[in-house]
Amino acid sequence: MAATVTRKVLLVNPSWDGLVSRKGRRFNRTWPPLDLLNCAALLEQDGLSVGLIDARAVPTTPETIRDAAARHDLVFVTSSPIDRWQCPNLDLGPFLAVTHLVEPDKLYVMGTHGTVAPGELLHMTQARAIVRGEPEPAVRALCEGKDPSEVPGVTYLQEGTTIHNPEGNPVDLTTLPMPAFHLLDLRNYRYEILGGRFALLETTRGCHHRCHFCLLKMYGKGYRKKDPEQVVHEVTHLVREAGAKTGYFIDLEFTAVRDDVRDLCERLVSAGLPFEWACQTRADYVDGPLLKLMKRAGCRLIHFGVESGSPRILAATNKRITLEQIERGIAETKQSGIDQLCFFMFGFPGETAGDMEATIAFAKRLSPTYASFHAVTPYMGTKLYEMSGSSELFPEVLSKEHDPLILQAIANRAFREFYLRPAMLWSRVRRVDVRLWRRQAALFWHYVRPALT
Ligand code: SF4
Repeated sequence: MAATVTRKVLLVNPSWDGLVSRKGRRFNRTWPPLDLLNCAALLEQDGLSVGLIDARAVPTTPETIRDAAARHDLVFVTSSPIDRWQCPNLDLGPFLAVTHLVEPDKLYVMGTHGTVAPGELLHMTQARAIVRGEPEPAVRALCEGKDPSEVPGVTYLQEGTTIHNPEGNPVDLTTLPMPAFHLLDLRNYRYEILGGRFALLETTRGCHHRCHFCLLKMYGKGYRKKDPEQVVHEVTHLVREAGAKTGYFIDLEFTAVRDDVRDLCERLVSAGLPFEWACQTRADYVDGPLLKLMKRAGCRLIHFGVESGSPRILAATNKRITLEQIERGIAETKQSGIDQLCFFMFGFPGETAGDMEATIAFAKRLSPTYASFHAVTPYMGTKLYEMSGSSELFPEVLSKEHDPLILQAIANRAFREFYLRPAMLWSRVRRVDVRLWRRQAALFWHYVRPALT
């Protein structure tokens, strides 16, 4: 597709405070903004000149961003790169500070916040338009010179009235070119558990489930996937050309279609690349043979959203999983030699102190390699938010029912009880793995130490 006007486009990923943000304790890891790299690749394919500022990875002064914005024709600022699509930051301050450095008539906003509250974000940022949902097609169309009124999935202001264009078609992942990895230096990216020279990849978008707390608004309709050959080509390029050593598949539930994962892993085994990776999935989406194959293909860690140790709460959230299925999945992952990081939450509707104690006890019984404890956030755009009856923009917790300070205290206690158990400490000492000890020390410093105060 040839662009009729050659334009200079700047893509900006702002930085939030620290590795864990104060409001809502969101992780702000230095992970590559894959959605921006997809947009950049499409724009470069169209012959446009593309600049990328990832202030998260490379500290960037406001003056630098302002000067760069002045030199470009269109500036897109994200409020949540792809690894934050599901769990965006609740504090919009750092994002808004960046948008205010850009002239409004060249400013476009993308990310989760504008997707769930486009009118509000338009007002706050004074942007020319808000790109809702998967950004790639709309960003491309706007950069081709189309007026916002012609672009599906965009919200804009027309003579004082906010216009929400209908949604566009979901992105066909097989049509995406190789993400523009050349715009960043992977030495600036890391995951504290896996290590540095860290890349982000995706093989699918969408999920077959509808858990009430889960924010899926950024993902287009339906379940879509890349060709396995396309994914292996990307991994090969990342390792051989960009120097990647580690990576994360950011799919919502990586093993949702096991035959596809088997196919991909067999190809990765054949490719024999020195690449260690992680993914996230449900505990009922794994089995022993699949996990062994994933391990051979380089998988070192799986994130599992366990959520609660109370069967009643799991059922009420529409998670559609039992404690037994979770226990089986975690046990099989342990047997395969892949590390596990389990996420737990406190503060669901109707959750009692007894349910929360059951969650802490379940975490200790599961005893995964790592565990992380958080307060439930009723994200706008979720069933949970609807059920809460709240009209607050980006609330932190279900405040009508739960006190945020009490939930935080419970999460802190869960961290302490989980990590400072004699059995946990002994299991770490027994595993003679200097890299694991080093990671544990880093994790303790970042996550457990704050819970001790
Ligand atoms: S299964 Fe996972 S990704 Fe799917 S809706 Fe539930 S929490 Fe979200």
